This record gives sequence, structure tokens and C-alpha cells, in this order.
Amino acid sequence: MGKAYKLDCDTCTYTENIFVGFGLAYMSLESVASFVEDAALKRCIEEFIGNPSTRYDAYDALYVCPDCQAIRNELFIEMKSDSSQYRISYTCPRCTSVMKQEHIENNVLHHLSCPACEKGKLKATFYMDWD
Ligand SMILES: [Zn+2]
Ligand SMILES: [Zn+2]
Repeated sequence: MGKAYKLDCDTCTYTENIFVGFGLAYMSLESVASFVEDAALKRCIEEFIGNPSTRYDAYDALYVCPDCQAIRNELFIEMKSDSSQYRISYTCPRCTSVMKQEHIENNVLHHLSCPACEKGKLKATFYMDWD
């Protein structure tokens, strides 16, 4: 089951809803492929589906830019088979650095700076489960 959090800046009015975790749509790679919009990723998933040795991990994750603090809420997916492996990565929409995945827990994100004002710290508040 996934969790939804609200991120709030302690200095400005920045606020963002973030969904993290494992939803019902991630129960099979076929299901993940059906909602992925990126054509190259969809083709890659389909190749792994064709290989019976494939193992995978997929969930919604929070990505943070290490250079400018921009935030993206995206699908994490990693697939491994006997012959190949794939792990998704995201680049920052503002500065194109490779973004890092951050784990989110209730009330403990104080090390994350606000992407809007860059002075404040973000706080995460749990607000619902989703599936
Ligand atoms: Zn702020
Ligand atoms: Zn950046």
C-alpha cells in the first residue's frame, strides 16, 4: 500500500503532495507497462516481460536534486534478468543534475531544503493511504 504526504516549507508558502510506495498498479510488469507514458521505457519493460527470469521492483518515489533542491514525484523501477538489468534515473528539470531518491517519513524531512525559497526546511505530514 502507498502513502501520501504533504510537504510544507517552514518559511514560505510552498506546499506539495507526494505519493510514495507500492500501489495495486505495480503488482505486475504488464500493469506497469500499461500506464507508463515514456515509449522507450515501455519497450524496455516489454523486453523484460518476455524474459521469464525477470525480477523487478516498482514503487512511487520522491526524487530530490542534490544541487538545486527541485523535487519530482516519479515511478521508481528496477528490473533484472539473467541477461540484462535496468534501473530508472531522473534528471532535474531545472539544472539537469541526476536526482537522488529520498525516503520520506512522517515529520522527518528536515534535511530537505525548500525548492521555492531555498532557505526554509521541508516537513512531511502523512495524510492518507492509497492503493
Ligand atoms: Zn520555502
Ligand atoms: Zn537541480
